[in-house]
Amino acid sequence: CDGSSMVAAWLGVAEVIRAHRDELVRLDREIGDGDHGENLRRGFDVVAERLAAMDAATPGAVLKSVATTLISTVGGAAGPLFGTALLRAAKALGDRATLDGTAVAEALAASSEGVIARGRAEIGDKTMVDALVPAAKAAESAAQRGDSASGVLAEAARAATRGAHDTVELVARKGRASYLGPRSAGHLDPGARSTELILTSLAASAG
Ligand code: ADP
Ligand code: MG
Ligand code: MG
Repeated sequence: CDGSSMVAAWLGVAEVIRAHRDELVRLDREIGDGDHGENLRRGFDVVAERLAAMDAATPGAVLKSVATTLISTVGGAAGPLFGTALLRAAKALGDRATLDGTAVAEALAASSEGVIARGRAEIGDKTMVDALVPAAKAAESAAQRGDSASGVLAEAARAATRGAHDTVELVARKGRASYLGPRSAGHLDPGARSTELILTSLAASAG
């Protein structure tokens, strides 16, 4: 994975977010304020515009551009959290020109640590952390087995999918959904779902 495949991968994410905009709006209407899908759609449209105009760059520089765009264009809780995740990932990658499985696992570990440091949610609070932490753990195991970057991402995406699905039964303890108390149970967390979509799209691009 190099800088130009990283650009292509995030253009793919922007496409997936656009395709799932209404679903994410609906999920956030059930237990939040209904803006998650539109916030992300708007932000990723700007991400796609900026990436399309970007000169050749390292994977880390691409992630940094995506992060700063999301921070400045996506409102609500998710924008700063995704932005922090990607800034931490960019920092973990440094100026490496290509990524192996270990680098991908390190970037995911840094992302999940960044989201936890910023949002103070723990696993089980019914947030994006419930998708991201299992993804980072699965990535670490896959990297230790010697999997390639695409193999590590595939394992991460599978774990994020399971983790997101498991938020359905949880009672929210962080974010807007926590205002509902026990009534938040029985609904998929929108931020866990968007995290799953992003990682699944990245894994598909990595092949
Ligand atoms: P808002 O709730 O401000 O409208 P969004 O709708 O964009 O923000 O995002 C909501 C998502 O953000 C939730 O579904 C949850 O996954 C995530 N989230 C909210 N608060 C936190 C937190 N403190 N830590 C981690 N994730 C959080
Ligand atoms: Mg919302
Ligand atoms: Mg909002």
